[in-house]
Amino acid sequence: MSNSDTCREFEASEWLRYTRHIQLPGFGVEGQRRLKQSRVLVIGCGGLGSPLLLYLAAAGVGRLTLVDADSVDLTNLQRQVLYSEVDVGLPKAEVAARRLLSLNSDIEVVAVSDSFGVNVEAGGKGYQHKEHALVEAHDLVVDCTDNFPSRYLINDLCATYKKPWVYASIFQFSGQCALFEPDGPCFRCLFPESPKDLPDCNTAGVLGVLPGLLGTLQANEVIKYLAGLPTPLGANLLLVEALDLEFRRIELRGDPVCPVCNSNEGDQGTERADETAGAASESEVHPGVMEISVEVFAQMAGDAFTLLDVRGDAEHRAFNIGGLHIELARVAEVGQDLPRTSMIICYCQSGQRSLEAARLLNEAGYSARSLAGGLAAWLKYQQASPGGINNE
Ligand SMILES: [Zn+2]
Repeated sequence: MSNSDTCREFEASEWLRYTRHIQLPGFGVEGQRRLKQSRVLVIGCGGLGSPLLLYLAAAGVGRLTLVDADSVDLTNLQRQVLYSEVDVGLPKAEVAARRLLSLNSDIEVVAVSDSFGVNVEAGGKGYQHKEHALVEAHDLVVDCTDNFPSRYLINDLCATYKKPWVYASIFQFSGQCALFEPDGPCFRCLFPESPKDLPDCNTAGVLGVLPGLLGTLQANEVIKYLAGLPTPLGANLLLVEALDLEFRRIELRGDPVCPVCNSNEGDQGTERADETAGAASESEVHPGVMEISVEVFAQMAGDAFTLLDVRGDAEHRAFNIGGLHIELARVAEVGQDLPRTSMIICYCQSGQRSLEAARLLNEAGYSARSLAGGLAAWLKYQQASPGGINNE
């Protein structure tokens, strides 16, 4: 008896605490052991980080490292459920660490009250030793930030050290989530360049429960991945629309000219290039946050959106794919009368004017997106995939 007591992997209190995991088919003791042995780096302790951290701590992830340079602000309490009124003005990482340890004192929690990639320029250049050391010392990284420079930095460091990472982002009523694995497509395949003039939650507003939803989805992916359960998000991007409760998954494709993937995969890059040779060009398959890709557009039911041509009269008369017609110059003035019950998808020839129209309509309170790559990309997509079209 005494011999077996000395080599237990779990304390009695842990065994009791994790009973519901250990009972779970496919999870069991092995899944719980894997969680206990895992070290997870969480960057950002805000709206996404709040539910994520609570669930990772509750689930028994062995070590959590929290990185956030901010202090708790009253406006955070609308969605950052880790914090209370008494925490206003205090450093988030430290408050969060205390809160998590009060939830589960069997785990280790490390607070880093510092920014991740300070002075990082878009493109991920110029970061410091600290960021390298943090990523290298963990088994998985979670992006709970709200900016592209940090995401590119996370992506590139995870590629360097072969670490999986879980991405999520939110914009008003929409969210995205993906798991990037060391040998799969990376974030730069999805977004080769940072979208310009991207508003954040501070300027664009956000539905308080939306980061809760996306942060919980991130926690779901992290826990499954660490416990050895399968996840379909490894090669897919999940798109969440909170207004109409639509969840869609689109397949992620490796970008044959991605500098990060290609430098990691050598010859495989060539194979991937061949696989995707028939696909639409780069700019057409990598939508920004106010854009919608032709692939996603093709999957949308016709009654899920209002289509709006923002080109000139002559262009519209010459050729169009239906919907309403208001040229860009008049969108700000006439746009007030558009239906507000569904998403407005703007289109033009190449996606430039429609992006500006979508921006104007979003400012006017609509939920609007631009068809990425415009008619040029759409027609090319139709040509490449006959039968995949339902929006005439
Ligand atoms: Zn890539």
